[in-house]
Amino acid sequence: MKADFRKRDGLARTGILDPESGAPIPLPAVADCAGLFPDLASPAGSNLPLCAPAELVRKFPPPAGTRPVTIHPQMENPAQSGDCVMAAGWHTAFANPRSYAGWLIALKERTPPDTVWYAPASALPLNAAILCYSGFDLFDYTAVDLKSAQGIFCTPEGDLTGDALKSGICSCPGCAAGDLKEHNRHALRQELALVRRFIANGQIRDLVESRCRLDAVQVAILRHLDNHSGFMEHALPVARSGVMRATSGESLQRAEVRRFAERVIERYIPPKTGVAVLIPCSAKKPYSLSQSHRKFQQAIGGRAHELIVTSPLGLVPRELETVYPAGHYDVPVTGYWDAEERAIIAGILARYLRRHPYRRIIAHLEGGALEVARMAAEQCGICLEYSCTENPAGSTALNALDAALAGERRIKDDRLHGMLSYQFNCDTDTRGTTPRGHFPEVFYSRNHVQLFSIDTGTGMLRPTLDGWKIIPAGYRVQIDDFIPEGDILAPGVVSADPAIRDGDEVLVTGPRILGTGRAAMPGDEMLRCRRGIAVRVRKIKKIEIQP
Ligand SMILES: [Zn+2]
Repeated sequence: MKADFRKRDGLARTGILDPESGAPIPLPAVADCAGLFPDLASPAGSNLPLCAPAELVRKFPPPAGTRPVTIHPQMENPAQSGDCVMAAGWHTAFANPRSYAGWLIALKERTPPDTVWYAPASALPLNAAILCYSGFDLFDYTAVDLKSAQGIFCTPEGDLTGDALKSGICSCPGCAAGDLKEHNRHALRQELALVRRFIANGQIRDLVESRCRLDAVQVAILRHLDNHSGFMEHALPVARSGVMRATSGESLQRAEVRRFAERVIERYIPPKTGVAVLIPCSAKKPYSLSQSHRKFQQAIGGRAHELIVTSPLGLVPRELETVYPAGHYDVPVTGYWDAEERAIIAGILARYLRRHPYRRIIAHLEGGALEVARMAAEQCGICLEYSCTENPAGSTALNALDAALAGERRIKDDRLHGMLSYQFNCDTDTRGTTPRGHFPEVFYSRNHVQLFSIDTGTGMLRPTLDGWKIIPAGYRVQIDDFIPEGDILAPGVVSADPAIRDGDEVLVTGPRILGTGRAAMPGDEMLRCRRGIAVRVRKIKKIEIQP
């Protein structure tokens, strides 16, 4: 049996499972697991409860060599790259959302990333999305068949009574034939097909946030997983090209939302200026393309650093407006910010302002964003100036903003420097670089040599080999002594910066080559995996070895 993972989205992934006999199975999938794994007929040592203490688990190790490899949160396991692993009893984890998160993390940390994860007797149309979001790939029909035996009609929205079979809710072959068992199996396959599509689109989180609304247990699991933001962040791609829907209360806690705020505070280096203007966001992204932001920029005239106050991201410096998720989020706009939202975003703003003091800060805001700015100023003991309290894009407000900035000097516009500091965590020398192109499709060069372009899908910088010369350290992947033909596979990687996440731009270095590319997995997983693509290569250059 062989599995190849294709697209990752956090812990979720799509792939192909190639059984020794029979057709390849697209993952995540429901399959006849008893047929795939003959060892399951005698599952010794695989029925210990997930809550069993370590001493007990150690007394009952699963027999060596059985497939799938049984894993338990309290047990080191012998699983290797390419194995299928089984979290026995995982269906019981739904009874305890806090433990669900804790057990999952313990299991993930003890098991190679490139293994197929089987959750026996667990999957229903209702919970398939969150199981896949948690990193499970393979399921059986046990749970749905049990529902059928109980006369329950399964849907992704939850359980209905068996008479739903004839109600027109579903028109699958099972419903057409009045066969509840076939309907329930069909509903699970259909939900998994949908999940595969959402993973491929990089939107599994959006699907889970939607699906969990009808099941409080799932909301609790989602929140407990979000509380382990370091664990979740590690697996999340650094950028996507699609829309990030920030449409629920959970959006504030999404690991990628927290990561953006952390990097703005900890990595980003603002331009040298004493004056900042806080302005509202716009529905259109990037903000610069909106009418309101054209007016703001005209009034400001380059005389202040522009900081956009927004939910759920907190604070977006103008230079980062194209970067994922700043250029990609979609929020319901009502102007009302709830108490939790205000507290979190004021906290982000206050941390930023403490780290980067300005001589003057002008709040050009209204409503919830204005309230947040006031809270942040109070927290760090600074005085704000106000150029409006309502309708920031109106002519009265714009004139007041223009007047407030009278006498201030234009600051040097260095978008590239700000973006590099955020993306590569470095302070670079960008003197002499010039942009060209039509925003947001921008190219940066020095002395007519192209250094960077902006990926218009993700809004991230793409360095050329010359561009990498001005990034002093980090984001390197070192390979063995070979000349790659195509992408770099994990076994060829010798070392990789642990800061690297899926989707990051990286410099590939080897004894005989230099290359540019995009990471397809986190840096540490490149070393933990024995299979799979580590870096999708864009360009490889052979190094001339002096004789
Ligand atoms: Zn049906």
